[in-house]
Amino acid sequence: MNGQMMQQPLLISSLITHAERHHGEQVVVSRRVEGDIHRETYREMAVRSRRMAKAIAALGVQAGDRVATLAWNGYRHMELYYAVSGSGAVLHTLNPRLHPDQIVYIADHAEDQVLFFDLSFWPLVQAVAGRTKTVKHWVAMTDRAHLPADADKLPGLLCFEDLLEAQDDRYSWPSFDENTASSLCYTSGTTGNPKGVLYSHRSTVLHTFSISMPDALSVSANDSILPVVPMFHVNAWGLPYAACMNGAKLVFPGAGLDGKSLYELFEAEQVTVSAGVPTVWQALLAHVEANGLKFSTMRRTVIGGSACPPAMLRKFGDDYDVRVLHAWGMTEMSPVGTVAAFKPVHAGLDQEALYGVMSKQGRAVYGVDLKIVDENGAELAWGTETSGDVLVKGPWIIDRYFKDEGGDPLVHGADGDWFPTGDVARMDADGYMQITDRSKDVIKSGGEWIGSIDLENIAMAHPGVAMAACIAAFHPKWDERPLLVVMKKPGATVTRDELLAFFDGKIAKWWTPDDVIFVDAIPLGATGKMQKNKLREQFKGYTLPTG
Ligand code: ADP
Repeated sequence: MNGQMMQQPLLISSLITHAERHHGEQVVVSRRVEGDIHRETYREMAVRSRRMAKAIAALGVQAGDRVATLAWNGYRHMELYYAVSGSGAVLHTLNPRLHPDQIVYIADHAEDQVLFFDLSFWPLVQAVAGRTKTVKHWVAMTDRAHLPADADKLPGLLCFEDLLEAQDDRYSWPSFDENTASSLCYTSGTTGNPKGVLYSHRSTVLHTFSISMPDALSVSANDSILPVVPMFHVNAWGLPYAACMNGAKLVFPGAGLDGKSLYELFEAEQVTVSAGVPTVWQALLAHVEANGLKFSTMRRTVIGGSACPPAMLRKFGDDYDVRVLHAWGMTEMSPVGTVAAFKPVHAGLDQEALYGVMSKQGRAVYGVDLKIVDENGAELAWGTETSGDVLVKGPWIIDRYFKDEGGDPLVHGADGDWFPTGDVARMDADGYMQITDRSKDVIKSGGEWIGSIDLENIAMAHPGVAMAACIAAFHPKWDERPLLVVMKKPGATVTRDELLAFFDGKIAKWWTPDDVIFVDAIPLGATGKMQKNKLREQFKGYTLPTG
């Protein structure tokens, strides 16, 4: 017997429709590339999104066509999120920090038809425009007055506000199968070419429900959310959708990602929640500390994308009364998989123990199941302290890559199909996962694993250390041993021996790095993560001391 409820496909357009009707007065604030602060309500945004949906149709975009963006976090980008996906086309958020060659490769692979870009990326657009195979229209996300003076270098260049001007908003969002593709993101491809992850309307809406929940990111109409995580990095972790679902205020930082600009926006717009990778917070904390500032409204920040150093969540908590929500996921997971929210078992723990829980990547959100397996694929019991490979499944987890690149990525077992994340982790007795490494970053000393993230976390707790990466280096006896690569804080005088002594008592003696190298900068990838593969390459010939 079937239930007797309405059949309604889960479509992304339903999010903006809800925001328009039930939170129409709520505002979206953007720091614009043009230099000013822009404000609009959800009501206005919904109208502009419908007009843009008509505009892209007028450009010849059809259902399933890919429409690309090279853009910061801002209201026009958000309007494209809804106009493109809502009308049945596929939004492809390109990462502007990639090399032009990679952008050309990805745009060609995706077969992008139209490319929208923020003015900051005009030089980049000029570098790729003659080389892409499928892009028919280039649209500058600005008004006519702000078009670049040398706009004629790209004949046929279109202007976002002109496209909108030409349309009215008499448009109804179409209804279609919820499994229709909605957006496309490419993984960074630290090995091999980048691969596309194609989300659906259904996966996106379900993920939005899940991340909104109290023990996940807890998104409310009373929040003012500033996503520092870019809209080209796994859809800003789903926040542009969750904000509409919950009627939260959104504050977009645009290109102003330095500590000072962010802090000003946090204060001016009374931001309560933020989200980003650890390297961003370092810059913000440095600014706040150097100027003796406090956050008057911000009380929570989601940190993920790479491990949040415990020293950082302590600083946020002790000095600024900001609760860090450590979260883990990946492009292939839409991205959220786990969040380190507490359970009743943690009630009564002292602050130090609570920080211990918060520094883990957390427990699975509803919708994601995960298990940790040994090298034979057998599940490891929770609470055993043994690390293994993390496998996940759920309705917003990848089934296969775009155009079947790389073949079948799944592990098929008696208990279903699982996606192997490439992460190595252990699980505590309460179901809190702690990532110890990415499998390609693991250090194997005499056949035994050493968790590079644990070592980095300790090093980054040293007051003289700005950033630390731990990589495997060749060792004549043990094959591999940990080599610590350190970027000092400006003016710090910490020495190698001092740093190595800092590990005493904090970790099993044999895990202590064998050597320390100080560098001016640690290479960061396009999403702000340390590029350990680059460091491994740089120190390939390095032989550790054997003494
Ligand atoms: P890439 O880093 O290849 O661009 P993603 O942005 O999808 O791709 O990153 C996913 C990876 O980032 C995860 O597989 C994991 O290794 C790492 N990661 C994400 N969040 C965390 C976290 N909280 N702690 C440790 N590692 C994390």
